[in-house]
Amino acid sequence: MNFLNKCIALAMSLDSRGFTNKKAFVWEKQLRVLSCFGNESILPCSNLLKSEHHGGHYCGGCGCGDTPYTQLLVYGKSYSKLDYPYLSCPLKMPGFSNYEPANPKEIEENNRKTQIEIYDIMELDKIIVSNPDPSDVEYQVFEKMAKIKSSQEPK
Ligand code: SF4
Repeated sequence: MNFLNKCIALAMSLDSRGFTNKKAFVWEKQLRVLSCFGNESILPCSNLLKSEHHGGHYCGGCGCGDTPYTQLLVYGKSYSKLDYPYLSCPLKMPGFSNYEPANPKEIEENNRKTQIEIYDIMELDKIIVSNPDPSDVEYQVFEKMAKIKSSQEPK
């Protein structure tokens, strides 16, 4: 297990213990940004959609639609979806709470998940992200969304 995978495993165990932070760790958010948006060598996720009304991007795979609260990344002081401490990804990508490591077929195909898993953790710091605290209203909205999503996920 490389260092990046150890960090991911640590975050998963903290999440599973009900860690009560109101925002993701910075490196966790950086990984989520890589998973959704890619970079100069990793393609963006095929589920990533440009918002028509809110100036950002949202996930087309999770079924939450294009709303102010489903924008994945908002620069500046605003709390965005990728800041939420417990966040599921339909593709179970690195950085998300339901992350599952690439399977042998994905490794053989060297797909996006595999490329991110072997990404040099030292390079993560080149991804500049904000780490804002949520307002009470924002936090309540994201809590509610997370509860709805987890009730829809297969047990
Ligand atoms: S499927 Fe996952 S990685 Fe892709 S845009 Fe949605 S949340 Fe991001």
